Amino acid sequence: MQFRDLQKQYEVLKPEMDAAMIAVASGAHFISGEQVKTLEERLAAYVGRKHCITCGNGTDALELCMMAWGVGPGDAVFVPDFTFFASGEVVSSVGGTPVFYDVCADTFNADAKSLEAAIEAVIAEGKLTPKAVVDVDLFGLPADHEAVAAVCKKHGLLFLEDAAQGFGGMLHGKRNGAFGDAACTSFFPAKPLGCYGDGGAVFTDDDGINDLIRSLCVHGKGPGGKYDNIRVGMNSRLDNLQAAVLLPKLKALADYEVAARQTVAGRYNAAFAGKFTTPFVAEGCLSVWAQYALLAEDTKQRDRVIARLTEKGIPSMVYYPTPQHALPVFRDEPTYGETFRNANDYCARTFSLPMHPYLTEAEQETVIRAVLEAL
Ligand SMILES: *Cc1c(COP(=O)(O)O)cnc(C)c1O
Repeated sequence: MQFRDLQKQYEVLKPEMDAAMIAVASGAHFISGEQVKTLEERLAAYVGRKHCITCGNGTDALELCMMAWGVGPGDAVFVPDFTFFASGEVVSSVGGTPVFYDVCADTFNADAKSLEAAIEAVIAEGKLTPKAVVDVDLFGLPADHEAVAAVCKKHGLLFLEDAAQGFGGMLHGKRNGAFGDAACTSFFPAKPLGCYGDGGAVFTDDDGINDLIRSLCVHGKGPGGKYDNIRVGMNSRLDNLQAAVLLPKLKALADYEVAARQTVAGRYNAAFAGKFTTPFVAEGCLSVWAQYALLAEDTKQRDRVIARLTEKGIPSMVYYPTPQHALPVFRDEPTYGETFRNANDYCARTFSLPMHPYLTEAEQETVIRAVLEAL
């Protein structure tokens, strides 16, 4: 059994995937080809944004936004404590300071109250200038972007949605990737929309930011093209081959994969209700279930379940074992009075089960049986 069965997906989509890859090879146009342009149009249309700029990976997408907004030394960017490292790493990459805030007690996502407390603590200290806020659609569930947007507006901060895990999810009729001044996603193979290598994209409605990011991702090119360098940028482009692979995959995601993920999550929810804390999805939210994460009673019980699964050859993962503030690279940074109660608690108790749109009922029964046996 696979944690994500990308092979099965390939078998289902094989005719389209093979044709797409061969078309790129025979056209011999590997960078910035027609497929990249078509993909950007389709991604923007699906998410409901004016612009989509594809790039080399999700981390670059986030960093390009930091660069476009001029984040640098002396700037504070607020980042959830419970996320993948890249969400905060990019702030440090451009010389800014990530300031972590806690996540909610009922979802793994941004807690707007903790965010506001962190902003106020930074202002009170007077050393850093609050500049931007990142929130994350962790495990595919939209964060409470409306509450975060209200805090950003109140304090005059830029808002970046990290939708690396959230592509295909929805909040109150708006797709993940449609929130904030800009949003980013990742096409790493294991994400809800993954390619056959690395890839990423930025979404924005802002024409100026669109132009700036299109320049930054091709060595700071100017109006005269790529040898007219007018700023320092980077080299971060999506290969045409990856774009070609993503086109049929986007169609499958939109046509049935998001729905299939709901069925799989629903079966787990029914089996584990009352036995573990199952994922909370608020009214008006659609998760794309990038992960199916449960909470055990405590670390001991969690580790017992994982040991049982390993014994049976069933893959499982802990997303994430360490809150961001406690990582070696960040643990000496100030925490502004925040205790990260929820992030610490999740790291101690959470575990994730095999989750993908092609998981069969029989496979799920095997997983469920092994998990329940461990109790
Ligand atoms: C995967 C991920 C990223 C980074 O994406 P890459 O394409 O791997 O660089 C950023 N943020 C979150 C929340 C992620 O899960």
